[in-house]
Amino acid sequence: MMRAAAAATTMKTTTPSYSYLTARKTMTQNGTPARTIKNHQMDNNNNDRRRRRRQRILHIVSEGTGRFIVGGNWKCNGNRESVKALVDALNKNIANIEKNCDIYCCPTFLHLNYVKENLDTRFKVCAQNSWVEADLVDPEHHYDSTTGAFTGEISAEMLEDLQVPFVLLGHSERRTLLGDTDEIVGKKVAHARYHGLSVVVCVGETLEERENGTTFDVIFKQLKAVAKEIDDREHSSWGSSVVIAYEPIWAIGTGKVATPEQVQEVHSKIRSWLAENVSEDVAKATRIQYGGSVHASNCADLAKLSDIDGFLVGGASLNGDDFAAICNASSVHYKAVGR
Ligand code: PEP
Repeated sequence: MMRAAAAATTMKTTTPSYSYLTARKTMTQNGTPARTIKNHQMDNNNNDRRRRRRQRILHIVSEGTGRFIVGGNWKCNGNRESVKALVDALNKNIANIEKNCDIYCCPTFLHLNYVKENLDTRFKVCAQNSWVEADLVDPEHHYDSTTGAFTGEISAEMLEDLQVPFVLLGHSERRTLLGDTDEIVGKKVAHARYHGLSVVVCVGETLEERENGTTFDVIFKQLKAVAKEIDDREHSSWGSSVVIAYEPIWAIGTGKVATPEQVQEVHSKIRSWLAENVSEDVAKATRIQYGGSVHASNCADLAKLSDIDGFLVGGASLNGDDFAAICNASSVHYKAVGR
């Protein structure tokens, strides 16, 4: 079972999944969604049943089962010279990076194609965002093109065309500085999935939210917005193509890394939430990364956690040697969890 789940979560190739192709074909034939919307919350109104199920789930979903996955978020950094230097440094390190780890790098849109063409193919490229219209509420229109009169934006269609396999969505910097609401993130996820992209969805709380005890309310609301949108279209492939990155905002770029206990608690609760609100299979197969001041020197302690499936790395991903060392924490993880 573990091995099957691990295989299911292996890095997605650029070829769109069968379900994605089937869904799109059916959509364009008759103009309406072909698959029945299966809303888990609505299906599951019986409170007693839910409580019993929750108790059972808490025992089942206490660990991740997928391949370790490490992402490098280069943010708004780099110029032609420094991006080339980073690509060269990563390529030089490839022989030292364990093969048991999936890796993606997120350069700016400007550098995406250069990186894709020049970085060793063991590193997948990942866009840092993709566009979707805020008022895309009608399921029929949901599948419409988002290319057109949207100056300055990049669409999932374009990423698909460039064969970019991953997109990072809902990063806290986009949520707090650039107005990405939970609802918009959910729509972006669904639209990117529709175009065959695997997505990394970032969730996480501010320091104030942690201190006032609303961490899980915030995270579950963020997850709910994604589940609501993705549920009816790409639900079956969620486990293999949606990675969740738990990134407490207070730990991003601050040097203040969350403690292993804090990370484990949040990751296992995210997994339980997925089991209750999406499905148990999805909960087991979904990889949950931790992000927030991860460095070569602190990654090993975190990698030992059973519920961590990898890292999303900002600052330290700009150094090829450090990033390679963080990728190699995969071996620490497998050893600690006995895999
Ligand atoms: C991030 O921006 O996703 C991040 C985790 O940044 P840092 O590693 O620099 O905290």
